[in-house]
Amino acid sequence: MKTDKTDILALLRNSKDYVSGQQLCDRFGVTRTAVWKVINQLKGEGYQIESISGKGYRLLEEPEDILSESEIASRLHTKWAGRKVYYYDVTGSTNNDAKRCGEEGDPHGTVVVADIQNAGKGRRGRGWQTLSGTALAFTILLRPDFVPDRASMITLVMALSVAEAVEEVLEGAEDAVTTIKWPNDIVLNKKKICGMLTEMTMTPEMDEIQYIVVGAGINVNNGSPEEFQEEIRETATSLKIETGRQVSRAELLEKVLLRFEENYAVFLETLDMSGLREAYQNHLQGVGNEVRVLDPAGEYTGISRGINDRGELIVEKEDGERVQVYAGEVSVRGLYGYV
Ligand code: ATP
Repeated sequence: MKTDKTDILALLRNSKDYVSGQQLCDRFGVTRTAVWKVINQLKGEGYQIESISGKGYRLLEEPEDILSESEIASRLHTKWAGRKVYYYDVTGSTNNDAKRCGEEGDPHGTVVVADIQNAGKGRRGRGWQTLSGTALAFTILLRPDFVPDRASMITLVMALSVAEAVEEVLEGAEDAVTTIKWPNDIVLNKKKICGMLTEMTMTPEMDEIQYIVVGAGINVNNGSPEEFQEEIRETATSLKIETGRQVSRAELLEKVLLRFEENYAVFLETLDMSGLREAYQNHLQGVGNEVRVLDPAGEYTGISRGINDRGELIVEKEDGERVQVYAGEVSVRGLYGYV
């Protein structure tokens, strides 16, 4: 039934004219009653569908922002990213769900999406807040055949993809500046809109990658800073707070996956960031500025000189020494605040 709904929605969306009930029956091999049920379900979800006897159905208007399996699947034109989607209204963590998919044999590119995560995870055991009806929380499952030491760069590939997709959905919004805070926070007008967590599972022999999951949480339609918990109110924002625009989360996901598929292909050509370095660096926050590196082995400051081909941040210390900072255990801050 879900596939029918997805297909019928996609067909209505892509048809300028009325689509007759009979056409839908023939095309998808379902009964009139099944078509009627799907149309009613879609109407119930907020799609405005006109039905005129003798002519058929026409999609007049879509809900501004709806997240559902049919809405997501009906939009995707990717080759492999998101060709299989699991959608949950509520889950613990989409990364954990995607890892289960990894164990259970789901294909490369499977995507898990949730409206609410009640145990969203950040790096180094930190939490990620996901509020109902406002956030896009998703994780993609990858089954690469490259060696494990390349995996840390995947998170930069996703960061670039999210930044590009955010720019696309906010096209024309004045004063909306999207940047990346190395390695993978997405920042809109100097506040954080997205965090990411990449986790890798090795084969039992520990010699190859079994799968990687790359998860992202994006603050999309939060209406005001008060919606965030107090401790992040100063540093967090959403697309809507910054631009006043209500953004379709399904459309944003569609764009992220399209960008990711392309960027991932570029990454695979060299298995490093050389082909994406320029695009990444064009978005990188604070190049040429002083940054604070919060290294567990000792904090230091220096000038950010961008990334190298392995995605490490080059930081030039006062004595001229250039440190190549590896993302694993480290956070970077602006000298006086978050960026
Ligand atoms: P940072 O540089 O911000 O420390 P990080 O990469 O080390 O980032 P992440 O895993 O990206 O950490 O995110 C976890 C942190 O993000 C939390 O500790 C919290 O401060 C902040 N955070 C949690 N939820 C949100 C949210 N919805 N929006 C913005 N920031 C959030």
